[in-house]
Parts: sequence; structure tokens; C-alpha cells
Amino acid sequence: MGVSIFFAIFAFIMKMEITILGSGASTPTSKRNLSAQVLHIRGVDMLIDCGEGTQMQFRKYKQKLQDLKYIFISHLHGDHFWGLPGLLSSMHMLGRQTPITIFSPKGLKNAISTWFSLSDTWLNFPVHYQELDSKQSEKILDEDSFEVHTIPLLHSVYCNGYIFKEKPKLKPIKKGITALYNIPHYAIESIKKGADFTDKDGNILKNETLTLPAAKSYQYSYASDTAQFDELQALLKDTDVLYHEATFMHSLLERAISTKHSTALQVAELAQKLQVERLLLGHISCRYSKKEELLLAEAQSLFASAELVEDGKSYRIY
Ligand SMILES: [Zn+2]
Ligand SMILES: [Zn+2]
Repeated sequence: MGVSIFFAIFAFIMKMEITILGSGASTPTSKRNLSAQVLHIRGVDMLIDCGEGTQMQFRKYKQKLQDLKYIFISHLHGDHFWGLPGLLSSMHMLGRQTPITIFSPKGLKNAISTWFSLSDTWLNFPVHYQELDSKQSEKILDEDSFEVHTIPLLHSVYCNGYIFKEKPKLKPIKKGITALYNIPHYAIESIKKGADFTDKDGNILKNETLTLPAAKSYQYSYASDTAQFDELQALLKDTDVLYHEATFMHSLLERAISTKHSTALQVAELAQKLQVERLLLGHISCRYSKKEELLLAEAQSLFASAELVEDGKSYRIY
């Protein structure tokens, strides 16, 4: 394998990126299917929410259904999970045998089991249900290179957003330093993780002498659906890229409050306070389908680089 091909594959695997499969609210349109997105973090594929028709979006936008390791469901409104029975059933029919883990509010396992028993459907692979009911933020997943925390949201049913947080990356060893200090191969890994090195004479070499600073670790936060509340900013701290629902324009603030959703202006204000690098707006109501530019302009009036996501488009976290 050529060196350039190796680095191209390495860069592809090491990326952190989302691909939007659905970004509409409540009712699908020809332009926006219901909430679903694939998140790739350094070789691990995950699905966040699974609105009706999500399996077709996998085909349409050439995403790999069988590579999914985890599914995260924010809440049990139909536009966020009614795509699951069909998606799981298709995974089975396409020959899946590897397990999958689904994080969701309590009740999903019962719902899917009832659905499958009524239609005499069974799966040839294990589904591990991790059902959530805590009202506090909690760490729910610890992978080699990242961890996942819940963000308890304020919606008309129990609802969590999810924070995907990369762990600190390895520090590069300074050029020529291993030969200079005669550092054995077995010590390299711990030095890259930040440890000092003690040589055979007992001299301690500080880590800063041996290494360069690690590359930045990124945090992607997914918030849907929710009204705004005081603690939200603190829960989302350290977010680099924020995906947030913007179901309404601010002229419908009262409706947003009564249905426990957010307006584009409120989300822009939150992003401004958080000083995120990138704000992605989704869960767009079909009432704006002919005037989405107004919704975007409202958000951009406070946060100039705000973007309305589009189905089928990928967005790099880095
Ligand atoms: Zn929704
Ligand atoms: Zn909802």
C-alpha cells in the first residue's frame, strides 16, 4: 500500500463527522425526513435518533447500516424512533450477527418487543437495551477514544440530548528524543499518554521535555427536542459543535414554550454564550418549508455562522 493511500485511509478513519439522514420536525417532507443522523468518531459508527423511514435514508445517502455499533434515541416521540423496528428487521434480513446497543428512555425495549411479537419477527443478532431514566447528566458509554454523556432536556416527555466527548489524544514524541535519552520502546506508550520517564540512573525526565502538546480533543453535542432552561448552558459547556433543534421562529415563542421546543433566536443566543465553533440547526418545521431562509436569518442575526442542516449532507467536527 502506498504511503499516500495509507495516510488517506488513516485520515478518513480518524475523522469526527456527522451525516444528516433526517432534519424535519413531526411530519416528513420530500426535502426533510425525520430526525436521524450518523455520527462517525475515529472508526466507530453510531446513529442518533431514528425517525420513520431512516433505513431508506441509509440507502439514499450511501451510509453503512451494518457498521452501526450504537444507537442513541433522545425520546419516545414518533418522529425520533418509529424508524427502529424496520431498521432492526432489515439488519436481520441482510444477515447481521454482530450485537448492537441502543440507549433510550425507559420503555423502548417493551415497545419493540411488542411490535416484533405481534408480527412474529425475530432477530438473529443480540440487541442490548440500555434504558435511561435519570434526571441528572450521566456518563453512559466509555469507548477507547471517546465517552458519551446524557444531557437531560426539558420536553413534554422524558428526553435526553447526548454529548460525545473525545478523550485526550496521545502526545507526539519530540523528534530524536528517544535516541538522545536512550528511551526503550516499552516506555513510549505511557510517555505519549503524559507520563514522565525515569532512566536507569534514576533521573526523572519531565514529560514536557519529551513530548509536544497533544492535538485538541473535540466535543459534539446533540440537543433535540427541548425548551430552553437555566442549566442548559452549563450542561453544554465545552461544546465545539452544537446540533440543536430550532423548531420555531421567535414570532411563535409562546407555541415553542407550550410545546417545549426552542426558537432559532433562542438557540443562537445559547450558541453565542457557549462560544461554539459551529452551530447546526435542525428539526425544522414544515411550516417554514418555503421560507427557511427567514429562520436561518433569525439565527444568523445573533450567531453569524449558524447553518441549517440538509438531509444527505455531512458536517465535519474536525
Ligand atoms: Zn421531534
Ligand atoms: Zn419531541
